[in-house]
Amino acid sequence: MNPIAEPSFRESVDLMFKRAVSVMDLPPGLEEKIRVCNSTYTVRFGVRLRGQIHTFTGYRSVHSEHMEPVKGGIRYALGVNQDEVEALAALMTYKCALVEAPFGGSKGGLRIDPRQYEEHELERITRRFAYELVKRDLINPSQNVPAPDMGTGEREMAWIADQYRRMFTTDINAHACVTGKPIYAGGIEGRVEATGRGVQYALQEFFRHPEDLAVAGLSGQLEGKRIVVQGLGNVGYHAALFLSTEDGALITGIVERDGALVDDRGIDVQAVRSWIETHGGVAGYPHATYVAEGAAVLEKECDILIPAALEGVITLQNADRIRANLIIEAANGPITAGADDVLRNKGVVIIPDLYANAGGVTVSYFEWVKNLSQIRLGRMQRRQEEARHALLVQELERLDRYLGDAWSMTPSFKERYLKGADELELVRSGLDDTMRTAYQKMREVWHGRSNVPDLRVAGYIVAVERVAMSYRDKGL
Ligand code: GLU
Repeated sequence: MNPIAEPSFRESVDLMFKRAVSVMDLPPGLEEKIRVCNSTYTVRFGVRLRGQIHTFTGYRSVHSEHMEPVKGGIRYALGVNQDEVEALAALMTYKCALVEAPFGGSKGGLRIDPRQYEEHELERITRRFAYELVKRDLINPSQNVPAPDMGTGEREMAWIADQYRRMFTTDINAHACVTGKPIYAGGIEGRVEATGRGVQYALQEFFRHPEDLAVAGLSGQLEGKRIVVQGLGNVGYHAALFLSTEDGALITGIVERDGALVDDRGIDVQAVRSWIETHGGVAGYPHATYVAEGAAVLEKECDILIPAALEGVITLQNADRIRANLIIEAANGPITAGADDVLRNKGVVIIPDLYANAGGVTVSYFEWVKNLSQIRLGRMQRRQEEARHALLVQELERLDRYLGDAWSMTPSFKERYLKGADELELVRSGLDDTMRTAYQKMREVWHGRSNVPDLRVAGYIVAVERVAMSYRDKGL
């Protein structure tokens, strides 16, 4: 039995919320209204598989409808329960408010181990779950828009979108009922990488502020920084890949389900991912040291720790043994409320989940807008932009000829300057802008107001103030 009492995930999120509102000045009662989950729908449904009926339990929780649609992923995992979806739905409310995605917060889950089923079985289960939710407007382009989460991806979103379309054949906005779809089914470039990309942009922004780095006892650039990542799923993989291949950071530890890999010279993230795909785990990977006790590697000394798997992995049990200067919460809720206190007292800086992993929902927002506008991002502007650039390049070429040897254009300039932005570039630019702006807003509150001890409290304050404002507009 756990000798140290930890709050549940839901209670942990509530504690973090309460810590923030205790230094705010909200009208009486509003605090409670914002904190509580509006509704949680539980569905039990049967699907005939392998000659017998199997009963599945799923949830869709709506935390706050101060803006609609409400937004949040659908998780497939055996550990899914009401407490978890409600905590995750609450985090969605704060996350969307912080990054100015115009949504309320929601989350769904299905208690299932997807690895136990064949693809055609998963399709039937997903379609039936979607049917139950669509029927109750818990999937709807203007009311509730799911997305991928742990255990789900583009494939499941395509099934959900198609199920909705079958039920509402004349809805011109049917595509927008779910995000994270494959491109051919109305998805957007850059959605799969979005959460990991957002983690990278968040770190890049953090490293633009030497004063903030100093609080974490760090200095300099991302290049050469030692990073331990827990979980090489969609989020952890993309974050670690971009940080190592584009920013020059060293991935010195990778913690996975079946153990961990360490190498202080840096691990090839792409190679490990391929290894996991063929061997089912990290054990046996030949180019790094394998550690069977994976949890111990979370405690390995490093500059940056990226928990990118489940909630509740840094707890009162291990928090005081963590030896990272900076933790960026790529997962939702990886640090319990108690562990958060321990880490803050140790001087560890935490870039909190509601900001750090908001890249996913940010690009979901772009996808939803794309679906509603029925046009690919950049389709109208790209060639016009190129034509205008061509005018300038022609003038420069004239100058080049005129000046002879005295001056010439940098060889790659023409090609790079002439190229108009495609959808992926626009998505990345929008995401980068979002992550920078939200961080700057948080740090303004962190450094500019009294009684704001850390970025998490600052993030909650920014988010809750925005939610409170929209309640005020509603006359509450
Ligand atoms: N499941 C992701 C999250 O936790 C994405 C949600 C979305 O795109 O709506 O933020």
